[in-house]
Amino acid sequence: MHSPVVVLGGGPGGYAAAFLAADEGLDVTIIEAEPRLGGTCLLRGCIPSKALLHVAKVIQEVGELKEKWGVEYAGEPTIDVDKVRAQKDQVINNLTGGLGNLAKRRKVNVIQARGSFVNSTTLSLEGDHESIPEGGQITFDHCILATGSVPAMPPAFKVSDRVMDSTGALALQDIPETMLVVGGGYIGLEMGSVYAQLGSKVTVVELAKDLLPGADRDLVKPLAKRIDKLCEGRVLTNTKVGSMAEVDGKVEVTFEGPGHFGHERFDRVLVSIGRRPVTRDIGLENTSVVVNQRGFVEVDSQQRTADPHILAIGDIAGDPMLAHKATHEGRVAAEVIAGKTSSFDKKAIPAVVFTDPEIAWAGLTETEAKRDGINVSVESYPWAASGRAQALGITEGLTKWLVDPESGRVLGCGIVGSGAGELIAEAVLAIEMGCEVHDVTDSVHPHPTLSETLMNAGEVHFGTATEIY
Ligand code: FAD
Repeated sequence: MHSPVVVLGGGPGGYAAAFLAADEGLDVTIIEAEPRLGGTCLLRGCIPSKALLHVAKVIQEVGELKEKWGVEYAGEPTIDVDKVRAQKDQVINNLTGGLGNLAKRRKVNVIQARGSFVNSTTLSLEGDHESIPEGGQITFDHCILATGSVPAMPPAFKVSDRVMDSTGALALQDIPETMLVVGGGYIGLEMGSVYAQLGSKVTVVELAKDLLPGADRDLVKPLAKRIDKLCEGRVLTNTKVGSMAEVDGKVEVTFEGPGHFGHERFDRVLVSIGRRPVTRDIGLENTSVVVNQRGFVEVDSQQRTADPHILAIGDIAGDPMLAHKATHEGRVAAEVIAGKTSSFDKKAIPAVVFTDPEIAWAGLTETEAKRDGINVSVESYPWAASGRAQALGITEGLTKWLVDPESGRVLGCGIVGSGAGELIAEAVLAIEMGCEVHDVTDSVHPHPTLSETLMNAGEVHFGTATEIY
């Protein structure tokens, strides 16, 4: 069988690339190993985690209603874990069904098989699904490689079924009494927050000296405080996990300092120490594709690999491993194959940590500016000065712009606070369009909203911000 364009992997990178290539008038086939399109993001990542985080946030808000406003529902919440799981699965089903329809409508051929390269223009297809063509091979003019990533799990940690990766944690088999989260990155903190709000006693252990290593400290500070409260002080930074063993139906974990020493038993352990790009065992050695030392495929700004027939997008094409970056790269790859001059400048990819409070940033960060010696003005506006934040009781937030002192151009933005993930979209547009800070302050923002904090932080640059606290 021949298909002019083949997309290997049906995640947010792969299906977006396939649909856009079809919109460009190209004949497209997606090869996906799983029975449903959607990839990590839809089946075991972004979407199920946000469905569970929604429940966690409501529980948190109800608790605050009692603490701050004296409004109390009778007793503690009871949680029907089967119903929570079923609702989360329903969300996934709704969305995957929609993707199937989108593929049909565009006449995108979907083959359920595990693909691996025989050479630069041929994939062999493994599996027993009826969609696999006779001969078990497909040839192509262009292949978009979008095989994504999987959780990193050191073999030494895989001592028991009680040790889970993010996929296991999202399956929500039960609400363990005690749980250890290994890794204080965004996935560990999001899932740790869910289990803590559902009633588990959660401990977080992080090798670095702070949670969310790499993110700006002023943004992380309010979240670290909240996580510490949620975990009742059991946040062990600067601490290494030495070993794990199953003992009496629990997982015994040894901590090897320097932040904390000793051993402790947990009902479940979530290992969330990073993700590994899927570049092994897919026959890349039979092509001219170059894989770097970290396992990522080397691509140029048009998503082309060193092999003229193969482009690569999404998690396998390098950091940041985020769904919207995968989708955008998918668009570029589809347009490049269609003969357009698209390319991707990664300067304003937003990143969001969907904890409570949320953290979001886009463009240049303060940490990067310091590291690279870039001179910036940092204009911060505390949410304590925002009427809306006061009314909502979420005054620990902060909005800041990073501004080029000479041109006044906005180079980056960081926000911590409720809804930061929604608010950052304005900053992405401003950075992408090359706005100057006065473009933001001259735009009338609705009152009273948290979006005003973007305008107010801009006003700090001109010394005109009104501080009402
Ligand atoms: P994937 O989504 O990983 O899809 C790759 C697909 O390729 C898979 O379906 C796989 O089955 C298939 N495949 C692999 N090998 C083969 C083969 N040989 N043959 C056929 N098919 C193959 N990102 C965000 O932007 N926002 C979030 O809030 C967010 N939350 C997350 C929460 C969790 C718990 C996790 C784990 C991830 C989260 N991510 C989030 C990251 C996001 O899921 C990924 O960045 C995104 O899914 C990457 O898309 P992709 O298309 O590159 O690959």
